[in-house]
Amino acid sequence: MNLRQKREKLLDTYRQHDEQGAYFREKAVCGPGCAYCCTHYGHLDVTTLEGLIILKKIKTFAKAEQNRIQKRIFKNKRDKEAKKPSVCPFLTPDKTCLIYEQRPFSCRQLYSLKICGEHGPLVHPQAVAQARETVKRIQQLDHTGYSGHLSYVLALLEQKPFYRLYTAGGFDPAGIAGFGKSHSLSINRQSAGGKE
Ligand code: SF4
Ligand code: SF4
Repeated sequence: MNLRQKREKLLDTYRQHDEQGAYFREKAVCGPGCAYCCTHYGHLDVTTLEGLIILKKIKTFAKAEQNRIQKRIFKNKRDKEAKKPSVCPFLTPDKTCLIYEQRPFSCRQLYSLKICGEHGPLVHPQAVAQARETVKRIQQLDHTGYSGHLSYVLALLEQKPFYRLYTAGGFDPAGIAGFGKSHSLSINRQSAGGKE
């Protein structure tokens, strides 16, 4: 399966998850402008396949905006490395998402039955279990990739040797072992039992 086919399959997987979870989401209190989850929730896991889609979206913005986004991604990475809370680099000042159509599954699966506060979102346990299964399917689909916090995965994709290998379908965990270990990236095929 090439990258374009994987992206199509990923979108299908999002759609299937949305259908499965419609009952739970109908009861959610989430709505535009409510963004505690984008500012305080902290850890935002993405797969490399999702990171690639986000990078492609960034390139559609005007150069000045791209530079602003890159600075925010860099700040997010630095904050996370220093274990400090950090706002998502894609959250706009009016609390909307700059990449809403391309947002990763971590954001798609998140909703709450009560407005979030210190204790984070309140999610039905069955919906949590469904989301875990979907994460597994996404990791199996991205079986030559990795998973981890958004700005770490984007930084990995910015490494040219890795980018070239990954987009050509290559797989060499030893080549990124140092960065992967220091940034707690997981190997998708190990996490999800994907194809060898
Ligand atoms: S998950 Fe929480 S903070 Fe995010 S939109 Fe829903 S209620 Fe608001
Ligand atoms: S990508 Fe968008 S929805 Fe997800 S945390 Fe960032 S601003 Fe929020």
